[in-house]
Amino acid sequence: MHATIRPQPGILDIALYQGGTSKIAGRDEVVKLSSNENPFGAGDMARLAYARAGHDLHRYPSTDHASLRAALAAHFGLDGARIICGAGSDEIITFLCQAYAGPGDEVLYSQHGFLMYRISALAAGATPVAAPERDRTTDVDALLAAVTERTKLVFIANPNNPTGTMIPLSEVTRLAEALPARALLVLDGAYAEYAAEYDGGAALVDARDNVGMPRTFSKLFGLGGLRVGWGYGPQHVIDVLNRVRGPFNLSSIQLDVAEAALGDSAHIMRSLSENARLRDWLADRLNELGVPTDRSFANFVLARFASAAQAEACNAALLADGLIVRQVASYGLPEALRITVGDESACRRVAHVIAAFMERQTLAEQQG
Ligand SMILES: *Cc1c(COP(=O)(O)O)cnc(C)c1O
Repeated sequence: MHATIRPQPGILDIALYQGGTSKIAGRDEVVKLSSNENPFGAGDMARLAYARAGHDLHRYPSTDHASLRAALAAHFGLDGARIICGAGSDEIITFLCQAYAGPGDEVLYSQHGFLMYRISALAAGATPVAAPERDRTTDVDALLAAVTERTKLVFIANPNNPTGTMIPLSEVTRLAEALPARALLVLDGAYAEYAAEYDGGAALVDARDNVGMPRTFSKLFGLGGLRVGWGYGPQHVIDVLNRVRGPFNLSSIQLDVAEAALGDSAHIMRSLSENARLRDWLADRLNELGVPTDRSFANFVLARFASAAQAEACNAALLADGLIVRQVASYGLPEALRITVGDESACRRVAHVIAAFMERQTLAEQQG
């Protein structure tokens, strides 16, 4: 810390976000299952749009993102005037904290919530507050009990990362109804597309003036490296966020490729069906091996081990085989590993390594 040139309060309390590891020293071929990326990558239509976008690099992008917003509105059945686009949904989360929370205000989220809520709250000078979960699941009563007169924003991800669990819309609605009038509920829908029959809370956004919904192209649409997210909310919120948004926050490449990805229904369908099939297969297999998971509604499973030491040892065994999963001690879950649902061969390799690992554990116990 510098002796005299000091940042705003809160900023030095931020622990830097650690992205999912992507390399293993001394190994060329690895399978990365640590960042919930789409194992099939971007779809063909997105790749084609990316190649085409190279022709117009000298042009400034649109400032109002009208074309992408119209495509999102048509795809998800929303009002395009109440959509805002950002550099990943991270940027939407940042805008929300910047616009609605400052020194003296509280930003509330659930215990194992996404790390960006805390980081963005601190960056805005606000106080982050975590409410307990019940069985690794968002607990509406605990959140309501943690509300104070200073609460300005309440973040929940549904389905949640890193737990994969979700709460029913009736519970989300109960939370929205019970919050004080000055607090905005933010329903992070990064994994909403993976949950069957779930609109991410869009109808709730339409019905109320205190609910917003950030979404992303980083997961199902396979564009994590491109950085495109969006948010849907009441008009008064979108109007506020557009004031803090830089006019050229998205490049023409980001806008064109994201729009193309929305139209690639073959890639979307394949990604969804393979994820559902392999997620259930992996969860069942882990369960048989004595490694429980909660039912996941997303594109990863949270594998729970007997102890932090066992999770650590299993992580080492996976790494030795070139498989990178996510340790989630920074989310308060040191005894668990978050495993992205990869393609079929990746899932089989994960199950194979964990089976061998658990067998060695049992033998070691027997030899006592
Ligand atoms: C991955 C993820 C996001 C998306 O982040 P982007 O900035 O859009 O890549 C948002 N929220 C949660 C809970 C996530 O896991």
